[in-house]
Amino acid sequence: MMNDEVNDGATPTLEIEPASMKTSGQCACCGKSRRTAWGFVYLDGGPHACYFVEWTLGRRDCSARFDVVVGKWFDGTTENDREAVSLEYRLLDTGPSFAVVDADGRPAAEVGRATKSAEVTGTPLADEVVSIAGAVLEADERVRDLAAPAVG
Ligand SMILES: [Zn+2]
Repeated sequence: MMNDEVNDGATPTLEIEPASMKTSGQCACCGKSRRTAWGFVYLDGGPHACYFVEWTLGRRDCSARFDVVVGKWFDGTTENDREAVSLEYRLLDTGPSFAVVDADGRPAAEVGRATKSAEVTGTPLADEVVSIAGAVLEADERVRDLAAPAVG
């Protein structure tokens, strides 16, 4: 049975594909360089989302942003077929933590409709983007440092 080999039906398969990155100015709090890395997310083999992570190099205590754009990506779709959700990331004593914030003005808002924190928080969309961001944190080596416990 082909379908059974691809997926047992219970858990969707998320695949993270890192793409490019660029420097993106300086941190507002400490002046160190910030960087933005981005990539693509496939769900059960089909294009599903893209993500941007912006953080301060070598600094886990500065704020980091995970922007996730979820929706339709086939030919003919536009940013109106996708939702851009922005997550403020913090590494707490209890582990990684994401809070939904407004996506206006983020690079992600150029490829998806910018959502507001108030309309996304507590919805299934929030759960989905947080799980995608968590998967990115584990799978994308460029940002994995952000999840590591502080040393010393
Ligand atoms: Zn800083």
